[in-house]
Amino acid sequence: MAALVALLALSLPIVALCYIAWCYASPWSTCRRCAPGGKNRTCRACDGTGMRPRLGWQLYVYARRLHRDGTR
Ligand SMILES: [Zn+2]
Repeated sequence: MAALVALLALSLPIVALCYIAWCYASPWSTCRRCAPGGKNRTCRACDGTGMRPRLGWQLYVYARRLHRDGTR
């Protein structure tokens, strides 16, 4: 059990790093609400574009804006 916990603790930063790199490589994902059936112009989740920013990318944009507004 302890080995499993240690393994999880070790792999968490690696997974997080991979996710950050993945978000950086392709910040836009397809909209899950309307992409399977093609673009939906009335979709409110993506404003009809069929593309949505990833959660990690949204967090990055939020942090960047916060930093910029705080250091001006
Ligand atoms: Zn959509």
